[in-house]
Amino acid sequence: MYDLIVIGRGLSSLLFLKQYLETHSDLKVLIIEKSKKIESRYISSWQGPGLLDLKKEYDIHADKAYKKISIINEEISIKKNISPYSYNTYDYKHVIETIFNSVKDKVEIIYDQVTSVKEMSNEVNVKTKKHTFQSQYLISSTSLAKQSLKNNKMLFQYFVGTKIQIKDNQKHDTCQLMHFLQSNNEVLFDYNLPFDQKSILIETTAFGKKVHFENLEKIHKKSLATFNFAKIIKKEKGVIPMSVDHKFHRTARIINIGLDGGFARPSSGYMILRAAQWSIINRNTNLKDLVFKEKKLISFLDKIFLKACYYYPGLASSIFVKLFNSNDIASVIRFLADIPKLYDIVKILMNTPKKIMINALIK
Ligand SMILES: Cc1cc2nc3c(=O)[nH]c(=O)nc-3n(C[C@H](O)[C@H](O)[C@H](O)COP(=O)(O)OP(=O)(O)OC[C@H]3O[C@@H](n4cnc5c(N)ncnc54)[C@H](O)[C@@H]3O)c2cc1C
Repeated sequence: MYDLIVIGRGLSSLLFLKQYLETHSDLKVLIIEKSKKIESRYISSWQGPGLLDLKKEYDIHADKAYKKISIINEEISIKKNISPYSYNTYDYKHVIETIFNSVKDKVEIIYDQVTSVKEMSNEVNVKTKKHTFQSQYLISSTSLAKQSLKNNKMLFQYFVGTKIQIKDNQKHDTCQLMHFLQSNNEVLFDYNLPFDQKSILIETTAFGKKVHFENLEKIHKKSLATFNFAKIIKKEKGVIPMSVDHKFHRTARIINIGLDGGFARPSSGYMILRAAQWSIINRNTNLKDLVFKEKKLISFLDKIFLKACYYYPGLASSIFVKLFNSNDIASVIRFLADIPKLYDIVKILMNTPKKIMINALIK
């Protein structure tokens, strides 16, 4: 019998445990993780004044901290210096190993796959392939308790990425946040992270009503072909639901967190800052009271933006271009990082393409 079982030794579980166990060192905690191998992927986040400092709070180091970003569509190419902010890219494996090392003396871990969970009035039963465990509370960052989304008009962010070694030397000080590509029914763009002179991650991303990896792979291949590359270093892919209906939910004893718990920002899929912020705010909260609340105004704006992408995918690039071109970059970053001041929101609203947003609002 444990006080707390955590399913998954992934990002949100560890961000939470690191903070929570500093104030609840007496808890008997078991982590159940299905795989010893840690997935290979990159996680990025804004950093800078007023934003939660991931290095200070979690001692994680960015592989790269970009001070310049670019956004390109067929009409315009915008390059912005974002200092004193930065766009940081972390190796997921480094993040998981670092945070796990900081909690490993306070938890037990077993490598086994959870197959079912059952909530009783006084405990939770967790079945794995090999064992059964009981606990007072369960935190799950997996899709075991899958959410059924009422709204069938939703978008998915899906992406394929390839890190390549290139033959020619390249400049590597700018993150290409979005380079929009032609598409009739999806928002489609390349996201490029140059790590050094010789290596770059090319990620082709779509916001679509359905997930069509086969088609995306073809487009991605074309994007890769524009580089003179020597070899493929690694590949990654993913799907993130983009819907304000994909909300946090919990029962009396089972708390869903992370991507499957509705932590990601609906309009962007970014999660790490939100999950870290939430973990710090809730260091002293009782497990029975733990909830994740969206900021209402941000959620409302995300909803209009998602509708615009859903009904007018061909026009979405102009929303992003206007966002980055017509606003002070500090306001944009605070907005994207979930901590906008009221005047950031007012400015951003005044500078959005009104016709598209109003049409989306009334749809
Ligand atoms: C390729 C990729 C790139 C991303 N890039 C970014 C980014 O740049 N910035 C950002 O903020 N977000 C990003 N995200 C979104 C999100 O931040 C990450 O997916 C993040 O890892 C989600 O954290 P999590 O805790 O929900 O899940 P995970 O970190 O995936 O952890 C879940 C864990 O649960 C384990 N597990 C699953 N099922 C079971 C089971 N039945 N029994 C036992 N264990 C189980 C898994 O093995 C895994 O270790 C990205 C996602 C992907 C897929």
